[in-house]
Amino acid sequence: MLDLVIRNARLPDAADGRLVDIGFAAGRIAAIEPRIEAEAPAHDAEGCLCCGGLIETHIHLDKSHIVDRCAPEPSRQQPDHMRRVQAVKPTFTIEDVYRRAKETLEGCIKHGATRIRTHVEIDAPVGVKSVEALLALAREYAWAVDLEICVFAQEGLTTAPAADAALVKGLEMGAKVIGAAPNYDVDHPGQINRVFELARHFDVDIDMHIDSGHDPASLDTHLVADLTERFKLGGRVAAGHMTKLAGLPPARQKEIARRLADVGVAVTVLPSTDLFVLARHADHNVPRCVADANLFVEHGCNCSISSNNILNPFTPFGDGSLIRMANLHANILQVGQPERMAELFAMISQRSARLMNVADYGIAVGNPADLVIIDAPTPAMAVATIAPVLAAFKRGRQTVSRPRARLLPPASA
Ligand SMILES: [Zn+2]
Repeated sequence: MLDLVIRNARLPDAADGRLVDIGFAAGRIAAIEPRIEAEAPAHDAEGCLCCGGLIETHIHLDKSHIVDRCAPEPSRQQPDHMRRVQAVKPTFTIEDVYRRAKETLEGCIKHGATRIRTHVEIDAPVGVKSVEALLALAREYAWAVDLEICVFAQEGLTTAPAADAALVKGLEMGAKVIGAAPNYDVDHPGQINRVFELARHFDVDIDMHIDSGHDPASLDTHLVADLTERFKLGGRVAAGHMTKLAGLPPARQKEIARRLADVGVAVTVLPSTDLFVLARHADHNVPRCVADANLFVEHGCNCSISSNNILNPFTPFGDGSLIRMANLHANILQVGQPERMAELFAMISQRSARLMNVADYGIAVGNPADLVIIDAPTPAMAVATIAPVLAAFKRGRQTVSRPRARLLPPASA
């Protein structure tokens, strides 16, 4: 007995553009056939791309939507992103974080995200207030999205005992992942080692901000790879940004990609923030400072692409559209071949699922009925055209409807 049938769906790997029907029962995918004969209610996909729900592996809901209360950039060369966020953190209450995060989260859901990992800061004076707000939000929006919390210290850990204590408290409260920002710590290796220690103690995955910058002279990536190998944490470690790698010749990048692939470290590229924040030292011919996710994938390293910051000093833009992020990456890295654009689409869907160790992702019988319908014929065209998500389903129930824009020509005479 089916609860709903999606008719005329085009799967991402559809041969010859063949369409299928997808039947849902009890929140799961129960049938995928050329034509399902059933009395169940139907949703016509009209030949559009139908794929697993999109996955945001790296976003900061807690500090989103604050650009209106932050000081303007003092100068292009000294934008002071972190300090300008730090200055308004005393205004973060549980209610304030909840309200802003909710607005951002709803945007992500409307753009097709059905699973999200949000990085949450625990620095004083906020402590675990944001964790509390996001746990409440995760419960309230469980009908549309699986929201996972990654706790980390943004403003230094090794010299901040209060941050260390709050990190532990956040993990005890239910954060499933631990993160890091060694760039803002006087002791990069000290922070990375402590995070691996806590991850092993709490048996949680690791998702860190690593090697954001334009100068590849010193890289924390190597230590992350070594610790992942030593503690046999392959498949449970992700590194976001990795922009310094963009400053290396391709042969070195490939070497590092293969090393990360061997030890099981995934890379998350955050093109909007990286473009906005970095290379402020240059006032013309500005380098792009965005890691080449296609190159990393082509050398065996799993990658995801994500939004990171939305409407704060680090990125005063954003709407939660992952497809737009994949398109931005294609633009910056000059990716025009359809198969490589399709790979970028995988980095906001299947590859993100793999990064988050989601075993039952995608359109297959038995998997949760989490899927989106996108107004494009193929994943590559979805990326090329920034195609809108027309509908989303979570555990078999429709959660989003975005009717197509229509032209309204004058009535013919
Ligand atoms: Zn981040």
